[in-house]
Amino acid sequence: MNKIRKFVRVEGIVQGVGFRPFVYKIALENNIRGWVNNTPKGVYIDIEGYKQEIYKFLKDLKEQSPPLSKIERIYIENKQIKNYNSFTIEKSRENNGGITFISPDISICEDCKREINDENNFRYQYPFTNCTNCGPRFSIIKELPYDRHMTTMKPFEMCKKCSGEYKDPEDRRFHAQPNACPKCGPEIFLLDNKENKVKCDDSIKYAVDLIKDGNILALKGLGGFHLVCDAKNEDAVNNLRKRKLRPHKPFAVMMKDIKTVKKYCYVSKIEEEILTGIRKPILLLNKKESNLFHNIAPNNDKLGVMLPYTPIHELLFNEGIEVLIMTSGNVSGLPIEYENDSALNNLKEIIDYFLIHNRDIHIPIDDSVSRVILGEERLIRRARGYAPTPIKLEGIKETLAFGSHLKNTFSISKENYIFLSQHIGDLENTETYEHFEKGVNHFKKIYNITPKIQAYDMHPNYLVSKFIKKENVKKVFVQHHHAHIVSCMVENNVNEKVIGIAFDGTGFGDDGKIWGGEFLICDYKNFERTGHINYVKMPGGDLAVKEPWRMAVSYLFNLYKDDINSYKLKDVTSKQIQNIIKMIKGNINCPQTSSMGRLFDAVSALLGIRNKITYEGQAAIELEAIADVEDEKIYDYEIENSNEDYIISTKNIMKNILEDIEENVDIKIIAKRFHNTVIDFSVSMCKLLREKYTISSAALSGGVFQNEIILTGLYNKLLKENFNVYIHKDIPCNDGGISLGQIVIANHKEKEI
Ligand code: ZN
Ligand code: ZN
Ligand code: FE
Repeated sequence: MNKIRKFVRVEGIVQGVGFRPFVYKIALENNIRGWVNNTPKGVYIDIEGYKQEIYKFLKDLKEQSPPLSKIERIYIENKQIKNYNSFTIEKSRENNGGITFISPDISICEDCKREINDENNFRYQYPFTNCTNCGPRFSIIKELPYDRHMTTMKPFEMCKKCSGEYKDPEDRRFHAQPNACPKCGPEIFLLDNKENKVKCDDSIKYAVDLIKDGNILALKGLGGFHLVCDAKNEDAVNNLRKRKLRPHKPFAVMMKDIKTVKKYCYVSKIEEEILTGIRKPILLLNKKESNLFHNIAPNNDKLGVMLPYTPIHELLFNEGIEVLIMTSGNVSGLPIEYENDSALNNLKEIIDYFLIHNRDIHIPIDDSVSRVILGEERLIRRARGYAPTPIKLEGIKETLAFGSHLKNTFSISKENYIFLSQHIGDLENTETYEHFEKGVNHFKKIYNITPKIQAYDMHPNYLVSKFIKKENVKKVFVQHHHAHIVSCMVENNVNEKVIGIAFDGTGFGDDGKIWGGEFLICDYKNFERTGHINYVKMPGGDLAVKEPWRMAVSYLFNLYKDDINSYKLKDVTSKQIQNIIKMIKGNINCPQTSSMGRLFDAVSALLGIRNKITYEGQAAIELEAIADVEDEKIYDYEIENSNEDYIISTKNIMKNILEDIEENVDIKIIAKRFHNTVIDFSVSMCKLLREKYTISSAALSGGVFQNEIILTGLYNKLLKENFNVYIHKDIPCNDGGISLGQIVIANHKEKEI
């Protein structure tokens, strides 16, 4: 039998993830000769061997690739035999302007965990242990190529032992850029809130004692600071709520291990896989009955749980702690703290001690948040462990999309790849805006992108407008809900007209009103608004978002007009109601809205669940939480046909709800019936639109689809009516996905100009 030779090119996330040593290993195992190297266009492999061995090698290449790698494409060419006599790892070639992919930050692997728990290992209890398969990546990279001196590990010169591992292709730390050990790597410090070093033998052990005593700590982690306290200590949790000015918004927790999670939450098989996987997001789980967590996620049937993902976390939980509050280390409304000086300054009023270290975070990144609905993981916040994995789409030029006002992400693209940024936050203050600007400049530099087009919302906030004005490039305006639907289409690879159902809180419409309960017919370029919920007024504008009872009054006014005696709301005086009616009648600060979020708010307030909110979406979330009951009834509604648009009239829905309240029907049942009704009128609307436009695909997007009852119900009902239904998975359905829609729409609009 003769030997054969093949030349293989592998594209995808194949750099800085242990790909070459992996290739080296499978080459030796299969008796292959030749070489492997790294180029800006991917990994090149020249292989020679007997046919069977070559095929086995190629099979292993596809099936056993390292956990952090993601093979996008493999090209294989036949070549003339060269008779190589060994297999070697060649030096990397210089960057020539291609795209290099960056791995997300990844949780500590089992091998490294074993080492830090092994008394005989020289990395025993070392909090910065990592290897080729785990540890920081995206958050420490300053520039490409991904090499130690281009990361925040530059100041730490590797000791002999570490550099030996780094250079050895058969070592599991071969080219692990953040490689470190107690002798040469970063260190951890415990400080009090006056910045004095706490004298102790072991900072981590001492920190745990402080936590057990009810103290609140600021802990520097992988992508930023967390505020940490003992989740079982009610006073500590209440204290944290007071100091962080956060009365109700759920806190995320970190639990010792999967066994502990199962003690407090219901965990399905797929949920267990996500919790224990390499990305370690905060996963929303159904709470079991326990008196433990009433002040952690009040009025909420879910709990956000993650497992330890850095060596520091592992070591904390070794000291007899079971559940820790692990919430973003920021001052209310501001971005996550990630630099030591700034954190010391800004967090000292909130916390008692700092557990910090001297490995800098270059790019801050929050914890990701996801939830399993319809049997699959669906991201709510796409950040650590997920960003900056790119999205591939043919025909995309160098473009920058600015995203939304709240839950901002931006997107930047080049050569058929779109890089969706990590979660940035609400662009409501200069600090978050600076965080955004730093992110944009970093992505431009690291991927070497000079955007030729800029895409932004039809109503960009003033901070972003400032940024836009500076640049002399083509500018494209994109409607918010069109962007939502296109983000869902892109994620599902749909490039034909769809019925887009966009349900959210707020988005600027092209009639100058506030949209949010929209049915659009759209493609990647254009949209036509074909239906929506009836407009009502938002008395007080933004204040109506914060105070859902105002929306209840507005919906009641829509129904009863001047019949003042019909208005009744829990904990609201008739004087307050009359004032709102005056505003509505005089049209004083009363923008009009078709928002689904505001409809949920109104119902929540009508049922006496929530009159004023302290975090975004609270009224709707609490309404969903109580609606988890069996009831099939649907309230009456009408779909009116006016000026080519279909309008969903909510009058009868409100009337039915009030009748149910009058008859003392359990508010849980009413909440469920309201959910049933939203699902039902959406399906009816889709059927009307299918009839009119002969389109039978529907794409669902917008923050309301974080609601499990709505998403599951609408998805199943539409399938039953023979629609093709597209929903989100890797891209958040909320405004975190807006920039992806914007970038694609802008490219399609620019094509013919
Ligand atoms: Zn590792
Ligand atoms: Zn070392
Ligand atoms: Fe939105």
